[in-house]
Amino acid sequence: MTRTLESLRNIGIIAHIDAGKTTVTERMLYYTKASHKMGDVDKGTTVTDFDPEEQQRGITIYSACVSFRWKDVNVNLIDTPGHVDFTAEVERSLRVLDGGVVVFSAREGVEAQSETVWRQADKYGVPRLAFINKMDREGADFSGTLDEIRKRLGANPVAIQIPCGVGPPHVANPFRGVIDLIEMRLLRFTPESQGSEVIADDIPPEMHDEAELWREQMLGQLFDYSNELAELVLEESPVPTELIRRVLREATVQRMIVPVMCGSALDHIGIQPLLDGVMYYLPSPADMPPVEGLDPRKTETKAVRKPNVDEPFSGLVFKILADKHGDLYYVRIYSGRLKANSRVFNPGKDKKENAAQLWHIQADRREQVPLAEAGDIVGVIGPRISVTGDTLCDSAEPILLESIQFPETVISMAIEPETSLERKKLGEVLEMMKRQDPTFRAHENEETGQTIISGMGELHLEVIKHRLLRDFNLDVRVHQPRVSYKETVSASAEAVGKCNRQIGGATLFAEAKVRVTPRDDNKPAHVFTNWFSEAAPARNAIATLLSSLKEHAEGGGLLGCPLWNCSIELLEYPLPEPIPTEVPLRIAAADAFNRVLEAAGVVLLEPIMAVEVTTPDDHLGDVINDLQQRRAIITSTQNRGVITVVDAEAPLAAMFGYSMAVRSLSQGRASFSMEPLKYGPAPAEVREGFL
Ligand code: GDP
Ligand code: MG
Repeated sequence: MTRTLESLRNIGIIAHIDAGKTTVTERMLYYTKASHKMGDVDKGTTVTDFDPEEQQRGITIYSACVSFRWKDVNVNLIDTPGHVDFTAEVERSLRVLDGGVVVFSAREGVEAQSETVWRQADKYGVPRLAFINKMDREGADFSGTLDEIRKRLGANPVAIQIPCGVGPPHVANPFRGVIDLIEMRLLRFTPESQGSEVIADDIPPEMHDEAELWREQMLGQLFDYSNELAELVLEESPVPTELIRRVLREATVQRMIVPVMCGSALDHIGIQPLLDGVMYYLPSPADMPPVEGLDPRKTETKAVRKPNVDEPFSGLVFKILADKHGDLYYVRIYSGRLKANSRVFNPGKDKKENAAQLWHIQADRREQVPLAEAGDIVGVIGPRISVTGDTLCDSAEPILLESIQFPETVISMAIEPETSLERKKLGEVLEMMKRQDPTFRAHENEETGQTIISGMGELHLEVIKHRLLRDFNLDVRVHQPRVSYKETVSASAEAVGKCNRQIGGATLFAEAKVRVTPRDDNKPAHVFTNWFSEAAPARNAIATLLSSLKEHAEGGGLLGCPLWNCSIELLEYPLPEPIPTEVPLRIAAADAFNRVLEAAGVVLLEPIMAVEVTTPDDHLGDVINDLQQRRAIITSTQNRGVITVVDAEAPLAAMFGYSMAVRSLSQGRASFSMEPLKYGPAPAEVREGFL
């Protein structure tokens, strides 16, 4: 199978949970013959959700990269999770994608998570297509969702299809196919063939005028991007299909527009045209700008690599899967060639790694390959020390690509091994899990002997707990999860810290002066100085003071929590002669740190979540009451027909078990999403409970 650069599509399907990503993916794999049977989310038989944990929950947790061929293109498809506890998975896949298919539910429209993911895709410059799914559902609204894409996402959607009919089979005019506005025909998908057979028909007469109007609107929206097209339309000459496709492609790749398609993945409607859309409108790696990074051999020197096989090899590890044949490293290759049985360089770790075997992964099969080239995504077996986000490159021409940024953890849980043998096993398993999932942290608390693991939300920790207990059979006691608190200062203050000790006849003496200032940046304390010295001993002393202050800020302030939302400045201060050694400097820094926090006063901060609940109107009152009892602040409520969307800011500490609660409040009809928003001051009762 040829895999030229122009024929490659590295895409991801991104959406709010339950919009239908997994179902769309399954259908794609089936129609492209990558999978022999049609999987079903509701029966737990899908291919991409191959982890038992996922099948049980019906959600996609670990994004897997699946390759298949559709007509003239090879598609590497990365299934991304919709649950916000797994935003990092989305982030890391966006980093390596060239294009995205955003799936919306025609009934729910643009939901909170779609908005978050949309902004992430903007950040990484990912061109997109939109697929409005679930057109077969009661209350499905194509134009309404299109409007929301425009208003809520600030995008420029261009409908290139419209639905023929809407809603389930029992209504008068049910959804039964899509009208292609480019070729002006109706596409139907026969149920007997599970949609494999696509029939192109004339547009039904009663829909003709409507289709014409939509087509005019589509062409009108493309005027700005092609004079040739605009002139043809204005002269009322026929506009060739190829021209429309070319203009759509260019404008999509430039991220000026988002072509919009529709269908029902469940009823097998609209998937093959969506695959055509991926082929026609989404970019190949050759359309993407060169990647930028740093030359690790020289400080502050930029390096770039064009998406070209003749450039030196560069790639990014974006996912690691533990596997019985050896860990599988998913690498996006940006330039050059990677050969099996070769050595590659990890410039971040300054170490060489083996690239022993290369694999192209299909959902349920894998194919070993001797070589992989620029633009491709490949599974590599052999590396040992690289972690997610690391660059791999040619050691003769190194480049360090920007690593993947992950958000802070907001929740943690204590684990106690029952025996010392278990402690050792636990340590090894956690190390391995940390390499796979960079948003997950684990450290041992020396005082209590407990291991503290932290993550992005309740579900995230629960999944980890299940893996420890079930997949690795560890004999450990797991405590209830609790939120990760931080602390900050309530005012600015300055203080001088001292070391003045007699040890073994010698006097250890040092002093340090610091200032703290509150900030509102929702970040760990910023430790810095403007103090500079030409003399090497003084320079070393300043570096020691700074690193010591930083360790204290991370280790915890007066309440024992990491210091947040403030800056700590090391002020210029006369250094005694001779310049103190490391030990007294560290003692002085610790003293200054404690004194300045006491002078400023500290405040306990708790994680505040952005919560969005979508509920049928009959349960709106109950949902709002419940939220208010959870100390939530309702920031907006928006009515959309029979459902209302409630946005709120709520402390995570009061949101434990919310998924159960919201289900029982609404008889299972409301859905919600939640993601870390900021750290805010905890009220007195929380602080008392904490201390
Ligand atoms: P994901 O969470 O985005 O991966 O969504 P899934 O593919 O798991 O689908 C969520 C639920 O919606 C499942 O119960 C699917 O059967 C259902 N579903 C998916 N697509 C459609 C559709 O087009 N129409 C209807 N009625 N249900 C759908
Ligand atoms: Mg899914």
